[in-house]
Amino acid sequence: MVIAVYPGSFDPVTSGHVDIAERAAALFEQLIVAIYDTPPKPLLFTTEERVALMKKALSHLPNVRVESYSGLTVGFAKKVKAKVVVRGLRMSSDFEREFEMALMNKKLAPDLELICFMTNLEYEFVSSSLLKEVSSLGGCIDGLVPDHVAVALRDKFRR
Ligand code: ADP
Repeated sequence: MVIAVYPGSFDPVTSGHVDIAERAAALFEQLIVAIYDTPPKPLLFTTEERVALMKKALSHLPNVRVESYSGLTVGFAKKVKAKVVVRGLRMSSDFEREFEMALMNKKLAPDLELICFMTNLEYEFVSSSLLKEVSSLGGCIDGLVPDHVAVALRDKFRR
């Protein structure tokens, strides 16, 4: 059985993330969406909130599990016996960062493979940070995040 891990900050989960998770879940027997608890960037949602939002967003996928983790992604992947790390790629800026990380992870864990999914054209411009900015200014983000995430964002920014 091939287990894959899809790691990220997911602050919060967007429709772009859901699309990648759905496509990866169709390819691997088990997908573990791994929510990094302390990414090196300011967070809007707590780890528990990010996990709960992700669980609801992916509840239609029976072979997907959502967990939080701390420390190295390769350490978490080893713990859950994953052979593959899944990431999503938007534009060239994602590529440079992912390439750098992939080479470092290969050095740390030579047996672990990285598989990158190209973004769906619809979500090319969708990022958690942009959606948080638009939502904080009262802009409409319907369709770019699951409905319950749009509600959670509105709640956070309610003035
Ligand atoms: P991180 O902080 O690890 O980059 P993110 O939550 O921003 O975490 O993203 C997690 C993964 O999902 C990354 O591989 C990122 O490139 C990918 N991703 C983010 N947004 C999209 C999108 N709209 N389409 C495809 N992949 C995406």
